[in-house]
Amino acid sequence: GMIRTPLIAGNWKMNLDHLQAVAFVQKLHWALKDAKHDFESVDVSVFPPFTDLRSVQTLMDADKIPFGLGAQDLSVHESGAYTGEISGAFLKRLDVGSVIIGHSERREYHAEGDDIVAAKVKAALKHGLVPVICVGETAEDLETHGASAVPVGQLEIALDGVDAAADIVVAYEPVWAIGSGQAATPEQAQEVCAKLRDVVKTKLGDDAAARTRILYGGSVKAANIASFMRQPDVDGALVGGASLIVDEFASIIRFQK
Ligand code: PEP
Repeated sequence: GMIRTPLIAGNWKMNLDHLQAVAFVQKLHWALKDAKHDFESVDVSVFPPFTDLRSVQTLMDADKIPFGLGAQDLSVHESGAYTGEISGAFLKRLDVGSVIIGHSERREYHAEGDDIVAAKVKAALKHGLVPVICVGETAEDLETHGASAVPVGQLEIALDGVDAAADIVVAYEPVWAIGSGQAATPEQAQEVCAKLRDVVKTKLGDDAAARTRILYGGSVKAANIASFMRQPDVDGALVGGASLIVDEFASIIRFQK
């Protein structure tokens, strides 16, 4: 859509320590500048591990690097006796702008259900962080329910009680496509992203549906990004593996429709 600036988001997962992260962001910025990239045409965000956030923020501030900074998770709590947790308030203090919530790896390895995801969405919004709400079906879900039923249900719960004016991002990530090299087809992605936009419309209204960016994620690379970006309801990509390779990620950011 014309009114939505595309968003390319790099989920680094548990990769790159703070020194590697700083070097990576510097190289990515140089690669884009060398290519005379139009930084206004697309929003870019990186989601490093928590321990990298301060260093990456300091670099981006000092070198005026126009990327967004995101975290990969947050606590549902404000502060207190929650060993190992990171609160939204702490992230905000580090100039973090957004936070991935409900990634399939959190859902699978940390038993995060839809109730926890919904609580985290509220915690993020409370602190002025944009939640990047991840939804998607497993291979088994796909076989038994088709592609859209599970992600639609997950998003309905995640948006319960969310204000119509809230700034959110939705990421459709079929679990079978994540890290598998087997991306969804652009048509499959479009079909589910359109249904997710309908959910945003039902829960938050027309304005929110028109404004909210819905990303596709799952084995996105330089070679397939343009085909996803041609879909009317796909507004960008959440990129895992390919966001860790400077030239590949730069090529994704410089996609041509
Ligand atoms: C992800 O984990 O969000 C993801 C999309 O990973 P990959 O691009 O490696 O499939």
